[in-house]
Amino acid sequence: MKHVTGTLISYYFYCKRRMWLHANDICFEDNSEDVAMGKLIEETTYLQRNSNFEQIEFDGIKIDYYDHKNKIIHETKKSPKFEQTHIWQLKYYIYILKKNGIDNVKGVLEYPTEHKIQTVELSIDNIKEIELFSKEIISIITSNECPPKIKSSKCKNCSYYEFCYVGEEV
Ligand code: SF4
Repeated sequence: MKHVTGTLISYYFYCKRRMWLHANDICFEDNSEDVAMGKLIEETTYLQRNSNFEQIEFDGIKIDYYDHKNKIIHETKKSPKFEQTHIWQLKYYIYILKKNGIDNVKGVLEYPTEHKIQTVELSIDNIKEIELFSKEIISIITSNECPPKIKSSKCKNCSYYEFCYVGEEV
């Protein structure tokens, strides 16, 4: 039985083919400079944070920095290029916490390299949207058919690039 996870939510907005491949255990390690830089930014930013943050993991989500006292999830990202994906992933975390009886949680997205901070909240409409696309995610990942390539500029930064485009130019 497959479940929706935080990673699948972000891939749903990034590329449904990538989501299907990941969900069906066709994985490639992402060693790109982008990922390395993202990890470095996250580590160096959060090193300055104190012990008010805890890591929580349940129902397919893993939140690295949850401020339990103020009910705030903190996420650091390298660039706002895929901001909508980041926002929905954070909304999904808030949704899962709500489903588990933890209400009034907010999210804070931080882009240290751009000095940008974005607050994320979950509306009633968002809950309906999440429930709809969660159904769609399950339907896609349990299908025998892998979705088509998206042929987008995003592909060049994707760990599945060689797998998708072997012998082709995008
Ligand atoms: S290379 Fe492009 S089409 Fe293939 S999984 Fe990645 S984003 Fe999707």
